[in-house]
Amino acid sequence: ASGPNPTSSQPVRVVLRVRPFLPSEVSSAAAPCVGLLVSHPGGEVTVQLKDQHTSRNECYKLDSFFGQETRVCEIFDQEVSTVIPGIFEGANATVFAYGATGSGKTYTMQGTEDLPGLIPLAVSTVLALCTGTRCSVEISYYEVYMERCYDLLEPKAREIVVLDDKDGNLQLKGLAWVPVRSMEEFHEICSIGVQRRKVAHTGLNDASSRSHAVLSIRVSTDDVVKGKLNLIDLAGNEDNRRTCNEGIRLQESAKINQSLFALSNVISALNKKETRIPYRESKLTRILQDSLGGNSRTVMIACLNPVEYQEAVHTVSLAARSRHI
Ligand code: ADP
Ligand code: MG
Repeated sequence: ASGPNPTSSQPVRVVLRVRPFLPSEVSSAAAPCVGLLVSHPGGEVTVQLKDQHTSRNECYKLDSFFGQETRVCEIFDQEVSTVIPGIFEGANATVFAYGATGSGKTYTMQGTEDLPGLIPLAVSTVLALCTGTRCSVEISYYEVYMERCYDLLEPKAREIVVLDDKDGNLQLKGLAWVPVRSMEEFHEICSIGVQRRKVAHTGLNDASSRSHAVLSIRVSTDDVVKGKLNLIDLAGNEDNRRTCNEGIRLQESAKINQSLFALSNVISALNKKETRIPYRESKLTRILQDSLGGNSRTVMIACLNPVEYQEAVHTVSLAARSRHI
């Protein structure tokens, strides 16, 4: 892991995580295709992406780098736990896992039974902060697929309508918010949603890689919502020139890439402190209109597969573009 977490005033932090080699990759792999090159004073880092075969390389400046040995709890401590107190004071926050399919997004967000990911770590932290107070916690879980939103906590994957209420506040109409009082309750509720996500819409088992999944935790006192934390497992960003997608796969992939591009436009506009933020360019940015910008805090975790140089370039260049100031 990199140095201490800077209390940066930048509204959006962009950090990198490279996962370990999987058993099947160990034999062919020499070194991961990405490494830390320079740690700058103030916490920023320069990372180098390097193609093992051709020795081509590129460098990018980002906010933090988490190498192959990093445990998810380190990422939680440095990047996520720091935004949680804010949601008790009315600020929203969003954490994204971003990257190609197989890069470790779901592992980072959900984790495994033995090694909980950022979502369960966040829920247990929020629950702990509520103990002995009048605060209550609710979660929602939905996905964005082909520019439409579906509730994952409702039996029939009810569609959610996104609109502005009469005061101009964003409303996700039909979205279920389910009370959570313990981790047992959380796991019970969440596992239903996770199962639904796997087979939703297409009936295919890898459907999850083609939708964005948004898990939100919100804190209220006496039925007044204070703030919420969105933890988002983004759809895999595929480079269509390389994956040779056709038909519905290509359409899905085009929608995914459009929405990820719209997201990076929003983030880069926020980091540049532009006055007009292009939230309406995609469903994903629209539903996050109240959680990106303003006093919200955002962390984008770009996940990398250590053996895929081209893929890494694709992921990191879009991540770096988001950050570009
Ligand atoms: P994605 O959601 O980006 O498609 P996954 O999270 O499913 O990718 O990860 C792909 C594979 O790599 C899975 O088998 C997962 O268990 C493994 N993996 C990912 N990140 C790690 C990690 N940090 N440590 C160990 N295994 C990991
Ligand atoms: Mg996944």
